[in-house]
Amino acid sequence: MNEVTVIGLGAMGGAIAQTLLEKGYQVTVWNRTATKADSIVEKGAVLTSTAAEAIRASQISIICVSDYKTSYEVLDVEDVHAALSGRVLIQLTTGSPEQAQKQEIWANTHGAAYIDGAIAAAPTQIGGSHATIFTSGSMEAFDQVKPVLGVLAGHVPYYGEQVSAAASIDLAFLSYLFGSYLGFFHASRILESDGLRIDDFGSMIAGVSPMIGSILQYEGEVIQHSKYENPQSSLQMSMVTVGLLMEQASEKSMNNEFPLFLQNMFHKAIEAGYGEQDIASLVKTMR
Ligand code: NDP
Repeated sequence: MNEVTVIGLGAMGGAIAQTLLEKGYQVTVWNRTATKADSIVEKGAVLTSTAAEAIRASQISIICVSDYKTSYEVLDVEDVHAALSGRVLIQLTTGSPEQAQKQEIWANTHGAAYIDGAIAAAPTQIGGSHATIFTSGSMEAFDQVKPVLGVLAGHVPYYGEQVSAAASIDLAFLSYLFGSYLGFFHASRILESDGLRIDDFGSMIAGVSPMIGSILQYEGEVIQHSKYENPQSSLQMSMVTVGLLMEQASEKSMNNEFPLFLQNMFHKAIEAGYGEQDIASLVKTMR
């Protein structure tokens, strides 16, 4: 089975489609803004004019869009319901455990097998050994999609048929990552204040802690060279994740001081007009 469909060609979906093409898959894509497919169509991907048409082209479809609301806007239409029947849907959009549960029921209702996946990697890491995709959902479907996900990430742990598991582990990972981001941005201010290089510090952290470090190494270069435009991970997109951390804490009646702190910091940077820029633009509101 060499065909895969990718719905959503943002920073992450684009990296997924590109990697699958490079690894010899026959890739069909659909994106709301069709022009974003230009470069991968040049490399051999097929662009369709509707999501349903794209889904019909392959047994396995991956969706990776801004959030679950968007995912329903794209998928919850009649011709897509019919196209999904008998096929496998891999949801790689970041979401909450509850959203994963609801979407599995929704997909099964339309005759599709469902795998919830959560990407613990930046787009540039897709296809590399440091990338991880947490998965859960139908075991039978996982066996079918494992080779495809294995092309995208060096680690593809499967957490069983409890479909909420991947999203819970992902939110736990993101909580850890976002704590690292804030610590790193404060570290950048310490170095800036003494005229020292932030990119060199990022490389040092990558040596100490390769996976998270390679993300922070990238952010160190962004800050050192003020390359905040055309981000790998925008502030606005990361704010969706902060919202999920708040939502999960509320659903489980947990202490929410940490996500609230993140939310205030992110809100300040978005208010300052940095929403479309790299997450590292947070540092500008810390100066
Ligand atoms: P982008 O903002 O780069 O892309 C968003 C995608 O969603 C685009 O394809 C966009 O289409 C589509 N979209 C947004 N609104 C709509 C709509 N109303 N109808 C149809 N399509 C829509 O986000 P990313 O690619 O960075 O992120 C995608 C997912 O991957 C998110 O859930 C994110 O959390 C997750 N992820 C991202 C990581 C990262 O570092 N970037 C890391 C790990 C996970 P259009 O091009 O037309 O705007």
